[in-house]
Amino acid sequence: MPFSIFKLHPSILANVEALGYKEPTPIQAQAISVVAKGRDVLGIAKTGSGKTASFVLPILNQILKASTVERDRKVKVLILVPTRELAVQIEGVCKQLSSNLPRTIKSMAVYGGVSINPQMKALYGVDILIATPGRLLELKRSNAIELWKVETLVLDEADKMLNMGFKEEMEEIFGFLPDQRQNLLFSATLSDKLDGIQRVLLQDPVLIKVEDKIEDASLINLSGYFVASDRKGPLLRYLIRSQNMKQVLVFTSSGFSADKVADKLYKNGIEAKSIHGKKSQFAREKALSDFKSGVLNVLVSTDLISRGIDINELPFVINYELPRSPKDFVHRVGRTGRAESEGQAITFVTRDETHHFKVILKKMKRYIDMVDSDTMKF
Ligand code: AMP
Repeated sequence: MPFSIFKLHPSILANVEALGYKEPTPIQAQAISVVAKGRDVLGIAKTGSGKTASFVLPILNQILKASTVERDRKVKVLILVPTRELAVQIEGVCKQLSSNLPRTIKSMAVYGGVSINPQMKALYGVDILIATPGRLLELKRSNAIELWKVETLVLDEADKMLNMGFKEEMEEIFGFLPDQRQNLLFSATLSDKLDGIQRVLLQDPVLIKVEDKIEDASLINLSGYFVASDRKGPLLRYLIRSQNMKQVLVFTSSGFSADKVADKLYKNGIEAKSIHGKKSQFAREKALSDFKSGVLNVLVSTDLISRGIDINELPFVINYELPRSPKDFVHRVGRTGRAESEGQAITFVTRDETHHFKVILKKMKRYIDMVDSDTMKF
């Protein structure tokens, strides 16, 4: 199916083509025309499914079709996301898809951890605002934006937003929005919490559920090592060197541990940085962009970036420490094996975590032949 069946503006189609998108992904095939019709949508799809373009394309088309262009501080399209990184990523997609259009469509990401004043100034004339809830409320309280004219609200990674203690902020934001609006809710999983908000937020929504590629995991090669805690560092270095890994995302269970692992790698001559919630925004952005561009070989992260962040064809993920929940495991390993390319997810398991790891694998309906690292020389 070609993109041309969606009757998007030719200049938008040209951007799609320039990005090398040959045909719509399943979520795009189902969502674009429904969103274009103005319907509410509940989309169950993970990052990596192409869901961002599935709402950005029809939204851009809608803005282009509007007969009047108002330049003010009244936001028409609001996209709420749980993390700054995801905000920046979605802003990137908006900018790519809106370049060289017959009229300028301004998209902008706002998030905390950086100075608010430049954001306040730059907001004037914004068409599409991508925001984390806390910063959005700060901007609203400073009268830098108006929300009563929002026509389309997008909630991305909605399940995460409801889990991470955003509830009160979200309710305050909903209070500022007009009753009449289009709501697009995207979530990786359909949970009870989501069910609650879905009933409050969505009006007669179209449910779009795309096949769960991660749990299908056909493109993710899972393997595991039994390893004592004090041998994890040497095993990690051995794997990186012996398999000549050029780009590997390593997950730890705390920021402290992420720093320690990255430090040790660096001291052993492997280019590594850590990324977690306690790092400055600048350090986070720099580490992520260096990693994405291939300058940095190893990024050591907490679960902060296991969701939502798309790294093009990431070949290796290593779970240095196991996550508590199977869901987090799925999200972590889902960073690899994206966009039809094969990926390897390697997990370190201490003997006393054997049962926990079995539970995770059972949830994923996968089996792994574990390697005993005691028998290995490194
Ligand atoms: P998303 O799930 O929105 O984070 O998108 C995941 C990745 O898929 C991004 O790198 C997009 O550039 C890419 N992508 C989105 N739509 C398509 C498409 N139709 N064909 C190929 N790649 C796509």
